Amino acid sequence: MKNIILFGKPGAGKGTQAEFLKEAFGLVHISTGDVFRFNIKNQTPLGAMAKGYMDKGDLVPDAVTIQMLESEVDKHSNAPGFIFDGFPRTTAQAAALDAFLEKKGMQLAATLALDVDENVLVQRLLERGKGSGRADDQDEEKIRNRFAEYNQKTAPLIDYYKKQGKFHSIDGAGTIESIAMQLSNLVEQL
Ligand code: ADP
Repeated sequence: MKNIILFGKPGAGKGTQAEFLKEAFGLVHISTGDVFRFNIKNQTPLGAMAKGYMDKGDLVPDAVTIQMLESEVDKHSNAPGFIFDGFPRTTAQAAALDAFLEKKGMQLAATLALDVDENVLVQRLLERGKGSGRADDQDEEKIRNRFAEYNQKTAPLIDYYKKQGKFHSIDGAGTIESIAMQLSNLVEQL
């Protein structure tokens, strides 16, 4: 079973590459951002709770996010492995994921990071915002706040996974195809 975290700043290309890896390796893709947006669209209590945080570019509180992630994993009891996209984003979430996987007799194979310069990302996200209607992609101040959240709360996970010997980083500035090739080479070796 290959359980993989796709890691990187907002706009780094995690969702795009997750789609590719999902097809190539038959894994189940869980994007916490997508699950939140689905809940907002369907006006669930979870969506109502998350919306205010997301609109500002803040992280949704850990307790809510962790519970949601666990219930998504539990929906796929026969999965050959998972791609976690947008989770974990805090040390508390990473510790909860380790404990949860261990309880289920599973483990993490690797954390694969896409490394892209922030100024490139701002342009990518503003472009995405024009087409997607995502409020958090349409305003440079909100985008910068997401980077600040990342740098403060998510970046410490690089050391967390390095200590476990599971952290691999690739340059995320190339073409979609070349990045997909590099990622799939890494996944094959796991
Ligand atoms: P991006 O990586 O492009 O910012 P996502 O779709 O992954 O986009 O996430 C959008 C928003 O959803 C985040 O800014 C945050 O508010 C919320 N979110 C997603 N995943 C998490 C998480 N693991 N913990 C807390 N909040 C999250």
